[in-house]
Amino acid sequence: MDSAARETKGAERAIRQRTCIGCGAVAQRSSLARIVRTPEGAVYCDAGQKAAGRGAYVCGSRCLAGAVKKRKLDRALRTTLASDQIATIAASVEALGLDARK
Ligand SMILES: [Zn+2]
Repeated sequence: MDSAARETKGAERAIRQRTCIGCGAVAQRSSLARIVRTPEGAVYCDAGQKAAGRGAYVCGSRCLAGAVKKRKLDRALRTTLASDQIATIAASVEALGLDARK
């Protein structure tokens, strides 16, 4: 757990709020797309948000693109993503239709 999570104590866990790595907005976990890197090293958009591994959250395709451009996604997942991996993740995030909801 990082220090920010500790400061908010149990409330953060109860509300399930997460920070978008693209724009920094805090939103309910259910309204964000989760990108996960599994212990096996696979990286994909975790639509069910239940996969084991290191996760990062984005509001939608636009924030994902911004995060990729600034290498924030690589940093958040502690890996280096290949362009074909990024394309697959971007397509999955777009398929969630999160941008359209705004
Ligand atoms: Zn965002």
